[in-house]
Amino acid sequence: MRVPLLDLKRQYRKIKPEVDAAIMEVVETQGFKLGPRVAEFEEQVAEYCGTKRAVGVASGSDALLLALMAHGVGRDDEVITTPYTFFATGGAVARLGAVPVFVDIDPATYNIAPDRIEAAITDRTRAIMPVHLFGQCADMDPILEIAGKRGIPVLEDAAQAIGSEYKGRRAGSIGDMGCFSFFPSKNLGGYGDGGMITTDDDATADLLISLREHGQTVKDGGRTEMYEHWTIGLNSRLDALQAAVLSVKLNHLDEWSDGRARNAEYYDKRFEGTPATPPAVAPESRHIYNQYVIRAPRRDDLLKYLRERDVGCAIYYPVPLHLQKCFSTLGYGEGDMPESEGAARETLSIPVFSLLTEEEREYVATTILEFFA
Ligand SMILES: *Cc1c(COP(=O)(O)O)cnc(C)c1O
Repeated sequence: MRVPLLDLKRQYRKIKPEVDAAIMEVVETQGFKLGPRVAEFEEQVAEYCGTKRAVGVASGSDALLLALMAHGVGRDDEVITTPYTFFATGGAVARLGAVPVFVDIDPATYNIAPDRIEAAITDRTRAIMPVHLFGQCADMDPILEIAGKRGIPVLEDAAQAIGSEYKGRRAGSIGDMGCFSFFPSKNLGGYGDGGMITTDDDATADLLISLREHGQTVKDGGRTEMYEHWTIGLNSRLDALQAAVLSVKLNHLDEWSDGRARNAEYYDKRFEGTPATPPAVAPESRHIYNQYVIRAPRRDDLLKYLRERDVGCAIYYPVPLHLQKCFSTLGYGEGDMPESEGAARETLSIPVFSLLTEEEREYVATTILEFFA
């Protein structure tokens, strides 16, 4: 048997007529730039996440960048975040000339440890950017409390967490802004790149609308005035083609996330009491399992064993950000973030996508248990 880590072709086969029609509608109208498809999808996402506004942008990385720009983060400012994440989280901060200040994770959930944040705050802290890693929300209440006391905005990196819930609140609606990615392998994935920023604040949303079109002045009705720039932004629109595909896919998202959760539940049971530690899920939360990550001793041997037996797997992420070469000037070293480093050494992501068959997931679990036996 051969089990892929993710098979998007199966998903496409299920929704082909709907998706093809949506794509062709855009092609027929030749309306590729913003317009009704993007506006509709923005409304759909705002409603889904429980926010007043949502602004489509070109990628999840740009969503982070623009969210920071909208809060005026710039040279020598500090932004507190986790080192155990995809590169873009820290990259967006550094791209603006600001300094990512890394705070280690809670080893149970892999999300930023709220009780370590306070010590990292200085008078230059301009934002706290927790990541909802693998599809589970960070422990937001203590983070909001620490930030609230000092008036520091909380920007959620929700790139892996659309539909994830924390105490009844959806990812993207908990902090001041939520940043989403529609990279193809995310739970809601486009047919290329795309991203979105959610917020309850109209002024912030209007600012984002301007920033995503080179800082053009926003007129009534949310349109921007060509060739009139009140500030310096970038070109970061969400494609109408992507919005059309994503609109169709959003209607299926909960069914797919529930399918992932069912596969996760199956694995949880199989791995109970074995050396493969299943992910810890906090009470009162909905994990959407963008990744199902187990922690295991001899991880690299396990990876090799699984690959030899055609079980798709991957390491998210092998090098925590504080040890990336490009951040060496920040002065971190090995041992500074022991929990993140430990997770980077011992975790492994296995197939959990919703259209995985029962035979396939059984093969995955059995092969892992065979390795330890
Ligand atoms: C995917 C991802 C991003 C970046 O999204 P892109 O759309 O690929 O630019 C940012 N942060 C996290 C945690 C991600 O997983």
